Amino acid sequence: MEAVTKKAYGKVNLFLSVGGKRSDGRHDVETVLCRVGVYDTVTVRRGSAGEIKLTCDDSALPVNEENIAYLAAMRYFEHVGACHGVDIDIKKRIPVKAGMGGGSSDAAAVLLALDELYGELSFDTLLEIAASLGADVPFFLYEKDIMLGKGTGAELFECGELGFEGYGVFVSHGEKLSTGKAYERLDNIRGNANQLKKADNLLLAIAEKDLFGVAGAIENDFELCYESFEEIADALYGLGCSKAFLCGSGPTVCGLFDSLEGAERACVMLRYKTFVAKLGI
Ligand code: ATP
Repeated sequence: MEAVTKKAYGKVNLFLSVGGKRSDGRHDVETVLCRVGVYDTVTVRRGSAGEIKLTCDDSALPVNEENIAYLAAMRYFEHVGACHGVDIDIKKRIPVKAGMGGGSSDAAAVLLALDELYGELSFDTLLEIAASLGADVPFFLYEKDIMLGKGTGAELFECGELGFEGYGVFVSHGEKLSTGKAYERLDNIRGNANQLKKADNLLLAIAEKDLFGVAGAIENDFELCYESFEEIADALYGLGCSKAFLCGSGPTVCGLFDSLEGAERACVMLRYKTFVAKLGI
């Protein structure tokens, strides 16, 4: 095999509770990650020994080790103990700095593709590399629609299938706070005595394929960090969404609809930059 092409899907967090700051300065979270049907196309080809090359159709993104997909290949070869060489091409469709995990998903796609090309590392080692790249990368390695995350978010547990049909209207607005800044702002707003909440109600509603219950149990603590969240959420509710929530650490807001038609109708009515994607793939 000379090349592998992967669809690197985006994600939303249907639940994201942030606990207090730990002694190591990080935060414990309880989160439910859910793949969404918008994807980057990542093609990984065998290259010249010793060389990692990256091309990307988004010229604003770095094509060196500052790109997390490039870094993923570097780490893979470090673990193998030899750089076999690889050419990576990314067709970027997941909005950048949106809170939809695009970079993390690209990095996982590179690890999975290298594994298909060379097959020299165990899944556990790939997971270890993924966790060293970022808290969201391990999720994408599992290629599952939905998983429960604990610890910093990288400790993952299976939580069944996504049995309901839901469509997100994704609204882009404002500037992203880096994930670090978002945690800092949250600590400033809430103090440091935060109770970590459990995703049990959401998981139950998902198991019962109850979209109404899912909508009622979705929550994301980072919503507090964005002043414009309420305004966008109100606009989405006005157009009939069952729940408006923030994607990851923001700034994208997702409005949940039970039909593609309803979601597309809402998109046309909104004065923001929007797109529609299915929850799950
Ligand atoms: P998350 O939800 O994991 O916080 P995000 O969607 O908010 O992610 P990304 O788009 O994944 O953010 O990454 C944003 C930053 O990472 C940008 O500064 C960008 O330059 C850098 N970056 C590095 N590699 C990539 C990549 N392959 N795709 C997107 N951004 C990348």
